[in-house]
Amino acid sequence: MDTNIHFADPFSAPGQWYKGNLHTHSTLSDGDFTPGRITRWYRERGYHFVALTDHRIVSEARAVADKFIYLSGVELDAVDPAIGLYHLVGLGFTRPLDLSCYVGKPTTAEAVIEIREMIDRLHAAGALVFLAHPYWSGGMSKDLLEVEGLAGLEVWNGSCEVWDCKGLSAVHWDDLLAADRRLWGFGTDDCHWRPGREDAGLGWVWVKARELTQAAILAALAQGHFYASSGPQIHDLRLEGRELHVRCSPAVAIDFVGNGPFSRRVVARPGATITEASYPLAERQPLGRQTCRYVRVACLDAQGCWAWSNPIFFDPKV
Ligand SMILES: [Zn+2]
Ligand SMILES: [Zn+2]
Repeated sequence: MDTNIHFADPFSAPGQWYKGNLHTHSTLSDGDFTPGRITRWYRERGYHFVALTDHRIVSEARAVADKFIYLSGVELDAVDPAIGLYHLVGLGFTRPLDLSCYVGKPTTAEAVIEIREMIDRLHAAGALVFLAHPYWSGGMSKDLLEVEGLAGLEVWNGSCEVWDCKGLSAVHWDDLLAADRRLWGFGTDDCHWRPGREDAGLGWVWVKARELTQAAILAALAQGHFYASSGPQIHDLRLEGRELHVRCSPAVAIDFVGNGPFSRRVVARPGATITEASYPLAERQPLGRQTCRYVRVACLDAQGCWAWSNPIFFDPKV
């Protein structure tokens, strides 16, 4: 492999695949389901882990049942003077989280706290941090460029889609990736279990980890050893010589997405599906001043659901 290629490859990494939802609300904040009911809901559907991420309330990691665990988590909200409203998900706490920054501030999402300070507080408690639903929050990509310390962002948030049509943040992700911010793409439910609409089972991650423990899942998430999905599965993604090759569950389109024009869509014939596609890296020839900085894969199925791989990064040629 070229030394200038950075591929966090879960597909050939040792371990097993575990499915989980990293963003869930319960009756501990503004969700309608109790933690016990949430456990049953996800266990019955083949999930291996869930993080309860109630607003401003840190949940504890615990093994709930055979092959099912909870990660510790929280969702924090505030307004940053530069970027406006933001929500952060923190996962995998190893130390207490200091939330004194909220004291004397509004209980709704109107507390003015710099995002830098909030990320620092989450890191001090040992958490991995990602940005929740940037499209829904309204943050502009150019403002998010200044934010450091994120493991990634939610490329897909199921609740923001079914309630507010703002679930897909692929452009925010691509804008930041194109500016060399190496961020992973997370898919989540962010379910609140309110009547009238199914807002769970819409977005998840498949994580390749050595074992089903919080430490192993968090290490794999930090490394990028996972992919996000709202339906399809990615079975394999590998570099073969000078070609990037993907295999997936039946899809109507497989996208290779890079910065600017370095993208390509492979489509199935009308009424048919495809389960693999290739992208010759030799096509990454510079165009004018632009060079290809990354490629990620997205698979679209006939139901309109996606799977999103993490990006493969290319250093600039020196
Ligand atoms: Zn949120
Ligand atoms: Zn949420």
